[in-house]
Amino acid sequence: NGVMAAPRAEVVIDLDNLRHNVEYLARLASRAETMVVVKADGYGHGAVEVARAALEAGATWLGSCSLAEALVLRAAGISAPVLSWLDPAGTDYAPGVEAGVDLSVSSLRQLAAVAEAARGVGRPARVHLKIDTGLSRNGSRPDEWGALVEKAAATPEVRVHAVWSHLAVADEIGHPATDAQAERFDDAYREAVAAGLDPIRHLANSAAVLTRPDLHFDLVRPGIAAYGLNPVPEPFDLRPVMTFRSSVALAKRIPAGESVSYGMSWTAKTGTTVALVPVGYADGVPRTLSNRMHVWLAGARRPVVGRVCMDQVVVDCGDDPVAEGDEVVLFGAGTHGEPTAREWADITGTIDYEIVTGMYRPRVTRTYR
Ligand code: PLP
Repeated sequence: NGVMAAPRAEVVIDLDNLRHNVEYLARLASRAETMVVVKADGYGHGAVEVARAALEAGATWLGSCSLAEALVLRAAGISAPVLSWLDPAGTDYAPGVEAGVDLSVSSLRQLAAVAEAARGVGRPARVHLKIDTGLSRNGSRPDEWGALVEKAAATPEVRVHAVWSHLAVADEIGHPATDAQAERFDDAYREAVAAGLDPIRHLANSAAVLTRPDLHFDLVRPGIAAYGLNPVPEPFDLRPVMTFRSSVALAKRIPAGESVSYGMSWTAKTGTTVALVPVGYADGVPRTLSNRMHVWLAGARRPVVGRVCMDQVVVDCGDDPVAEGDEVVLFGAGTHGEPTAREWADITGTIDYEIVTGMYRPRVTRTYR
């Protein structure tokens, strides 16, 4: 009958802001190409929608963690280059080779698995050889690198497109470990060239895109900054893409002395209006924010009082007029004073990456605008 219910738990993804951020990052790295990292369903924003918007805005590559994530992009008809970099041992890379997904290789074992898949498919696989320059996660150790580049150069089923690595402390501006990583990266590149390869190079995450133009090389790999979240202390023109919103389900007066929510951890000092908002920890509101968070409601920041429950929180609105159906912003861009994902992260002792990727859950509706 055309009646639109107010949202229960909804993340709104502003693709104009995403395009702005990608254009901005691509301009900062204008001598390189830009790969937007869309792993973990686009950091909780929706991988396919983000990928399409990023490509419109000037990105020419996409980055995913697993091959399965890369194949989701292909299944959606996205034909741009995609790199995937972390799969369990025993993965069959054939669907990736078939779909033209670039595959990261960190070891002789992975090289053999990719070559075998390529042999089966009947066309060469494009690989990016990863060197561990100091993060001690994925990547070949420098002392095994020589053997890896030589074997890769001698394997006809693979074409080495790139040498790449990942930075550990690029978000700490001026940290000497980044320079040490850059030096090891340079050594690895020279070894690859000496082995007869002619690869492109990529190293920079968002923090390095923003603060280390000397490390942009041929391709940059921003993730978090594309979503408008700034990983470094200096200001940049980034616009947060995700807003988490709900609405008031019930508003009522309670008298002084009444307590709110499980454990009765908050008690009204005076008569007040409380608004019940139907989102809780099952929707991504950390329970550790109980009595420590605010929402944006009826034009003001207002405190959540009492414990965050599985499906609901209670907001103290004092004597202000608050109506059932009023919009509640849990976090957003922060431009009007509403809380941000960063604010939640600071209070709960994590990073905004974890807050936004944590919004990838079936109970929360996602809409795009
Ligand atoms: N490159 C790799 C290999 C990654 O794993 C990630 C994400 O952690 C990124 C690039 C993007 O990092 P950021 O979101 O800090 O820009």
